[in-house]
Amino acid sequence: MHEPAVPHLTAADPEIANLVQAEAQRQHDKIRMIASENYVSTAVLEATGTVFTNKYSEGYAGKRYYEGQQVVDQLERLAIDRAKSLFGAEHANVQPYSGSPANLAVYLAFMNPGDTVLSMELAHGGHLTHGSPVSATGKWFRPTHYGVRKETGRVDMDDVREIALRERPKMIIAGGTAIPRTIEFAAFAEIAKEVGAILLADMAHIAGLVAGGAHPTPFGHADVVSTTTHKTLRGPRGAMLFSTEEHAKAIDKAVFPGLQGGPHNHTTAAIAVALAEAARPDFKDYAAGVVANAKALAAALTERGFDLVSGGTDNHLLLVDLTNKAVTGKVAAKALDAAGIELNFNAVPFDPRRPFDPSGLRLGSAAITTRGLTTAHMPQIAAWIERAVTAAGRGPLDDADVAKDLDTVAGEVRDLLGGFPMPGYTA
Ligand SMILES: *Cc1c(COP(=O)(O)O)cnc(C)c1O
Repeated sequence: MHEPAVPHLTAADPEIANLVQAEAQRQHDKIRMIASENYVSTAVLEATGTVFTNKYSEGYAGKRYYEGQQVVDQLERLAIDRAKSLFGAEHANVQPYSGSPANLAVYLAFMNPGDTVLSMELAHGGHLTHGSPVSATGKWFRPTHYGVRKETGRVDMDDVREIALRERPKMIIAGGTAIPRTIEFAAFAEIAKEVGAILLADMAHIAGLVAGGAHPTPFGHADVVSTTTHKTLRGPRGAMLFSTEEHAKAIDKAVFPGLQGGPHNHTTAAIAVALAEAARPDFKDYAAGVVANAKALAAALTERGFDLVSGGTDNHLLLVDLTNKAVTGKVAAKALDAAGIELNFNAVPFDPRRPFDPSGLRLGSAAITTRGLTTAHMPQIAAWIERAVTAAGRGPLDDADVAKDLDTVAGEVRDLLGGFPMPGYTA
């Protein structure tokens, strides 16, 4: 059952209420290893479902366009103070609707159409908003990219510098969605300074690790930092932008009125709750646990013959190259989902296959660590992953024999997870 309970919804709209219950059950019963996902606390869930959703508050605290901001101004100021204090930032904007619009606001603040941006290649772990040709950022600006070295699976900062000197970007973006290794913010900052570029650190994936001291901070290095709030940071779906005092006005103007209308105040409330949680000492343990689990899982998978891009991980994320296995990323991901292990297929660097059926899998340890799983559980998870991938290699997933194997694993997964309460769900 969903927690908090939803009696009014159940009475008013049983169809939707049933879907809420089904999703709570599904999240409870599966090992959730999509690297960008997590479980928020029940307090964060409660904060998202409040009357703050009724309020329009275009503008910023003390300077709004509608009346009735007595409480919302307090809320947004509190969220901003918590955000600045958690990360040691000079300026914070908590209004971006999500990570993609937050990044677009940064382009709007610093770039003109046609200007050059230098970022991580999408296929090597960058994000769509880092100038992919299918994204507005790739259509309106001139993207150039760095990537990882084939031999190491890691970004070589000498390569980044060389490309930056050649392309003279107006903005450099450090960060991405599928980077299993530490991002060298200080080295990026040096290069940005050398070529006179704005440095945007997109810490969407690792914000919780940065907050918990498990990844080096971009603050003090980057001009602007963007992040989602719902990945390792364990807040509601949303985003924040940070900058030095120098760029504060440009960032705020780009978010509103540049790109957005009224902020989602119910989300701001939940972000504030998540920020307070992330400032507590136990969040340091959480962040350390996330990395420890990822490293233990990497070791256990390697032992079973899985090939990891870059040979392992420094953070919450693993990229598995299945080229030496009998199945592609998409087939493996579907088999694992049927086996109760939820993750996503993903391109690996230099992938010869197409993005919709690539060679790899991306796994993350943020949600399972919230759930309470520890390094002691990782060998078991690796064993299940191997069983499911091996089963999928024997034949189509609807083959009775294959399906039976996957179903057996899903049952074992459910048995394990029964011992680990999930915030947002009560048995
Ligand atoms: C997730 C992510 C985003 C986009 O966030 P959305 O909330 O999905 O729009 C941007 N950049 C990076 C690096 C991300 O991982």
